[in-house]
This record gives sequence, structure tokens and C-alpha cells, in this order.
Amino acid sequence: MPVYKAPVEDVMFLLNDVFPIERHNNLPGFADATPDTVEAILAEGAKLCEEVFAPLNLSGDQEGCTRNPDGSVTTPKDFRQAYEAYAAGGWMGLAAPEEYGGQGLPSVLNTIMQEFVSSANLALGMYPGLTQGAIAALLVHGTEEQKKTYLPKMIEGAWTGTMNLTEPHCGTDLGLLKTKAVPNGDGSYAISGTKIFISAGEHDMAENIVHLVLARIEGAPQGTKGISLFVVPKFHVNGDGSLGDRNGVSCGSLEHKMGIHGNATCVMNYDGAKGWLVGEANRGLNAMFVMMNEARLAVGVQGLSQSEVAYQNAVAYAKDRLQGRALTGPKFPDRPADPIIVHPDVRRTLLSIKAFNEAARALIVWTGLNSDIAHRSSDDAQRQTAEDYMGLMTPVVKGVLTDLGFDNAVKAQQMFGGHGYIEEWGMSQFVRDARITQIYEGANGIQAMDLVGRKLGKDGGRAVMTFFNEVGAFCQENAGGESLKAYIVPLQQGLGHLQQATMWFMQNAMAKPDNAGAGATDYMHLFGLVAMGYMWAKMAKAAQARKAQGDGVADRMDAKLLTGRFFMERLMPETGMRLARISTGADTTMALPMEAF
Ligand SMILES: Cc1cc2nc3c(=O)[nH]c(=O)nc-3n(C[C@H](O)[C@H](O)[C@H](O)COP(=O)(O)OP(=O)(O)OC[C@H]3O[C@@H](n4cnc5c(N)ncnc54)[C@H](O)[C@@H]3O)c2cc1C
Repeated sequence: MPVYKAPVEDVMFLLNDVFPIERHNNLPGFADATPDTVEAILAEGAKLCEEVFAPLNLSGDQEGCTRNPDGSVTTPKDFRQAYEAYAAGGWMGLAAPEEYGGQGLPSVLNTIMQEFVSSANLALGMYPGLTQGAIAALLVHGTEEQKKTYLPKMIEGAWTGTMNLTEPHCGTDLGLLKTKAVPNGDGSYAISGTKIFISAGEHDMAENIVHLVLARIEGAPQGTKGISLFVVPKFHVNGDGSLGDRNGVSCGSLEHKMGIHGNATCVMNYDGAKGWLVGEANRGLNAMFVMMNEARLAVGVQGLSQSEVAYQNAVAYAKDRLQGRALTGPKFPDRPADPIIVHPDVRRTLLSIKAFNEAARALIVWTGLNSDIAHRSSDDAQRQTAEDYMGLMTPVVKGVLTDLGFDNAVKAQQMFGGHGYIEEWGMSQFVRDARITQIYEGANGIQAMDLVGRKLGKDGGRAVMTFFNEVGAFCQENAGGESLKAYIVPLQQGLGHLQQATMWFMQNAMAKPDNAGAGATDYMHLFGLVAMGYMWAKMAKAAQARKAQGDGVADRMDAKLLTGRFFMERLMPETGMRLARISTGADTTMALPMEAF
């Protein structure tokens, strides 16, 4: 049975020493989030994940979901109880507004909890995860009545939410969407069409399911400018809040898929289902973007989560599995062989994953704090900077953390040799589960195009220039001393490569857009490396300061500093390769005639 321990200590280092949460005391909800309270909350969340969610991961994968002849869906054994424990613990509304029953705590805590939940059981964690996305969309774009009708029940966890975008003929290009909405004359619409791949579309864990559905109002323009967003409950909600008749929406079938077997991926049939417009007509994509952006960050967190849990299991195995002797002579002469963790190649693999995990976690915490500032600050300038940062970083977090999350799950599986390929060890599941994170919420190639095509040039490049200035200023401030040199010099080099790549796009992609398309994925990864390198430089600085306080954490801080050095020596040099690839442009990529493929 795979093991999992939530990295609470590592998170607390981030929240206390690297990005002190106390500095944000002026934001609503933060005054209650003292370090002690935060640690207690996360320890409680860790317990739920380790003791309730994680033990159901393997069995949930093996059992999967079942669609019954009446169209209902049964989730794996004990999923419902685990979900109920999550809801009863108030986790759904941890960061939701108090007026709808939430606790109003910083949303960064929710983001951290998402990592724990997803590491413990990705498939199960998706049910509340999608609900939180739907809550966010309704909070921003719902009418007062819609908020009153749906939010308290969703925040309580009694009802769950979904997002319905994809149709058989359209995923990336939603402008092709066919699901139609016909006005009923009473303010509601009759929604008809087929949606596919809908996560948590039908299940047995909640009393009601609140579907957020993209559809085209009859007569609306073709393309993305004619799409509207609707709220369509599985059961109608009576005036007094009780549940009424079943709506015309049902699960036609379940997809048989590579991973996340415990999550019901549904074909959803809308047969004149009654729905209500959310936000303005024909501005549905805009409204859905609230949910999509939330979900993209959450999917980035999922990428890290699989890397983390796979790493923990690989470390345990590498300390236990005896094969061969260390190159420098036996380390455990009393045993028949040394544990494989003595071998440099095994250590290289494990450290690559560890160095990524800790940087990715820092990036997520930093992004989570920016999300809080963007949503809660009363200072316009501060909010603007945080919003810019979120826009820029969303495709990077989604694309880079899931690409590397999957790669790392494979690397961790490799540590098990042949046993990694055998299902009972659980490593195969981490690989299979991690794979979807690169695909859904916009395939990663699309994230890269979003970064290069939309985010770089937005507002005259304001966001990217702010990022460059911040990283550049940090390097300058800390370049003087010897102690941080091992972190600052590689970071400066990486930043230089990123700036050159950005300049190259400005000079070569306007007139020839294929140059942007051909270099986008390399650019996204180059960006991710610099962002994570920046995280490591900040963590190294904080670790040195913490070590100097001499409060019994020297070993832990030394491990931090060494892991950061490994990142700088072994992972950061990839920035040069990424720049070289980008600078070759699109000529060769586009020259091959289609028939030659
Ligand atoms: C398990 C699972 C769960 C899902 N859950 C949900 C859900 O809850 N709700 C929902 O609405 N959807 C969901 N999806 C759908 C998912 O978001 C889509 O599959 C995804 O967005 C890609 O769309 P597509 O499959 O149509 O691929 P396509 O859009 O056909 O893309 C195919 C490939 O072409 C590339 N491509 C397409 N257009 C371009 C372009 N312009 N430039 C460069 N490359 C391009 C893509 O990157 C991709 O690699 C889920 C899918 C799965 C498998």
C-alpha cells in the first residue's frame, strides 16, 4: 500500500520564513490566520488526507465508478463517507465568504489543502475541487438570487458543482459549441445538447449537482462571441430551498479511461433542461473564465501533488531495496547489498523530483497569496500587480507543474524497477493519474500559447516587465555576498535567457506568428525554470536566516540549501537549451509538407 504524509512542515517554512503570512494581516480573513492557527488547520487537514483519503486511493482506482441502468452513478466504496468527512470538517468553505456559510480564511490555505487532498486521492479530491471552482464563478457572476439559492448548500458540501464546456466536436475551440439555449419566456432557458468528459457529472455523494453549462442562445452569433453560461441543477430547487423534480439532465455513459478511475467522467445529455443565465448573455466564456482560471491553478497543484506522493514512495523504496554496492565501497557491509539510495543515479533522480517539488510548492504558495491580494486588497495598485501576476503565472503553473509532475511520477516509478510497473505498488496509478493533468483545463500546448500569445503582450507587457524587475532586483540586492552566490548567479543567467527569449519573440513573432507557436512550449518551460529558480533563491535566503537563529532546525535548513543548490546546478542550466530552441524559429517545423508526416 503506498504511503503519504502531507508536507505540513515544508508549508510552514514557506508561510513563516519565505512569504510570511503575517505580513498580510491587513487583508480580510488574514487576521485570524496566525501561524499557530494555520499550523493547527493544516495539521487537521493533513490527518484527513492521510487517514481517510489516502487509504481509498488504490481501492478507488481498482474499483472505479459504475453507471447503473437508471443512469445513476455509484462511486467506489467509502468515497461517499470520505467526502462527507471533508464536508463536515468545513473544508469546502475554508476560504469562502462567511455570509454564505464559509470561514473566510485566506484562499492560500485552501490551495495548500488542495495539494494534500490531491496527493492523497486525486480522483476523490476532484469532486470538491470542481465544486469550489463553481462556487467561485457564481460568487463573481451569479445574481443575488442564484447566490442565495446555491452557494450555502455548495459551501456546506451538500451539493457539488461541475463545469460543462466540452462537446464531442469541440474542446479547445469552444467557438464551435452547439449546445443550445431556448428562452422559456419566464426568465429560464431550455438547454439541449451533449457534453462529454464531464468530471463529477453524476455521482452518489451529494443531494444535488449544480452544473455550470456553456450554451448558445438561439439566434446568438456563431463563434466565441455567442456563448452564454447557465446554471442547471440536477434537481430543481423550490422557493423554500427544498429539492423539487428532477431536471432534464442525465448521465448517458461513463468514459473508460487511463486514470482517475474513482472520478466519474460523464457524457451528459441535456434534453430541454431548465437553466438560468449566469452573467451577461453572450459573455459566457468570460464568466466561465473565473472557474477555468481557478481550475487551471488547481490542476497545476494536482501536477505537484502526484510528483510529491510518487516521490515519497520512491524514497521509501530506495531506502529499503537492496541492490548492488556503492561505487565507493559497501555502505552497509553487514547486509547482502546496499540500499539503492546509495547510488548516484538513484540520488540524482530523487533529488530532481525533490528540488522540483519544493520549488513548485513555493510557487503555488506565492501564487495563492497573490490570489488573496488580487481578491481582497483595498489598495488598487497592489491589487493590480497581483492580478497581473496571476494572469501571467496561471498558464505557467498549469503547464509546467503538470508536465513536470507527470515526468516526475515516471521518474519515481523508475526507482521501483519492474515493481513500478506492477499495479499493486501503486506507482503505476500515480503515472496514470498524473497524465490527465497535462490534458484537461486546456491542453498544455494551449497554456503555452496563452502565455506567449496573450499574456506577454497584455497591457504593453506590464506583467512580464514587473516580474523581470522583481527577480532582477532580488538578484541585485543579494549579489554582493558569498553566501547566496550559488543561487544568485544561475538565477541571473536564467533570467537573462528568459529576457532574450522574450525579446526574440518581440522581434520575430509579430510578423511571423508561427515563430511564437513553435517556441511557446519551450518558452513556458523556460519561464517555469526561472520562476522556480527565483523561489529557490528566496528559500535559500530564508533558510540561511533561519539557520542563523539556531533554533534546532539546522539539519532541515541544510537539506533545503543543498536541494536548492542541486536545482541550480542540475535543473537551471536547461534555460540555455530552451532559449537555443526558441531562437531557431519555426522554419524547419513548418517546412515539412503534410504528406511527409
Ligand atoms: C478525464 C477528463 C476529464 C475532463 N473533465 C472535463 C470537465 O469536467 N469539463 C469539461 O468541460 N471538459 C472536461 N474535459 C475535457 C478537456 O478539458 C479537453 O479534453 C481538453 O480541453 C482538450 O480538448 P479536446 O479533447 O477536444 O482536444 P482538442 O481541442 O481536439 O486538441 C487536440 C490537440 O491539439 C492541440 N491543439 C488544438 N488547438 C490548437 C491550437 N490552436 N494551437 C495549438 N495546438 C492546438 C491541443 O493542444 C491538443 O494537444 C475532461 C477530459 C478528460 C479526458
